[in-house]
Amino acid sequence: MHAISPIGTIHTPYKEKFAIPRQPNLAPSVITELHLEGDANTEAAVRELKQFSHLWLLFLFDQNIEAGWKPTVRPPRLGGNERVGVFASRSTFRPNAIGMSAVELLDVEIRNGQVVVKLGNVDLVDGTPIIDIKPYIPYSDSIPDATGGYAEAPPVPVTVQFSEPAKSVLMQHSDHEYRLQALTEILSQDPRPAYKKGKPDSKVYAVHLFEWNVRFSADDDGIQVVDIAPLA
Ligand code: SAH
Repeated sequence: MHAISPIGTIHTPYKEKFAIPRQPNLAPSVITELHLEGDANTEAAVRELKQFSHLWLLFLFDQNIEAGWKPTVRPPRLGGNERVGVFASRSTFRPNAIGMSAVELLDVEIRNGQVVVKLGNVDLVDGTPIIDIKPYIPYSDSIPDATGGYAEAPPVPVTVQFSEPAKSVLMQHSDHEYRLQALTEILSQDPRPAYKKGKPDSKVYAVHLFEWNVRFSADDDGIQVVDIAPLA
C-alpha cells in the first residue's frame, strides 16, 4: 500500500464547515491561497502551471475522517430526506475521504521560498490538506452534453441583506468591496439545513467567516445579516 501525504495546505475565509458553498463555483469571488509543503514546495513543481486557467484540486475531507462513512447518504439537493448511494453523491463522508474541486487559477507566486498558488472558486475549509493538483483540460474534462441527474440545475441563490451595524463593520476594512461580495455570495446559498430551504425561520445562525462571527437569520425576503463581530 502506498501512503498518501499532503502536498500543501489551503488557506480560506471558511473557518468551519458550516456555510461553505456545496460546490466550488457558487462563491466565485472568494480568493484563497494554497501553500505547498515539503518536497512539493519547489518552483520546479509548478513550472508552466500558469498556462492553465483552472485546476483540479484533490484533497482530504480531514474533518470527517473520524466519522467514517455509510453506503447511502441524503444529498441536500434532494431536500435531505431521500437516500442515494454514496458513490451517486458528492458526500463528504466517503471511503478514503477524498474530495475534488475544479478551481480557478489566479496566480502562482514565490514568497521567500514559499510557493503560493492563488485560487478562486474554492469550497474548502481553512487548513484542508491538499493531496494533488492537476491542470483542468477543457477538451477532455468538460463534457457539454453530460447529464447531471438529481443535481442537473444549479441551486437558486437567495437575496442577502446587511443590517446597518453589519455594514459599518464591513466598511472599516480597506477591502470592504471584496468582503461584501464574498459574504453575499456565500450566504446567498442559504447555508441552513436543507429542510429549512425556502422557509422563514426565527433562529439566528452564527458562522465563522474571515476573522468574524457573522450572525444571520432567514425570512421571506432571503438572508438577513444581523451583525458581524470580530472574534478574539
Ligand atoms: N467539490 C468537492 C467538495 C464538495 S462538498 C467534491 O465534490 O468532492 C463541499 C463541502 O465540503 C463544503 O460545503 C464543506 O462543508 C465540506 N468541506 C470542505 N472542506 C472540508 C474538510 N476539510 N473536511 C470535511 N469537510 C469539508
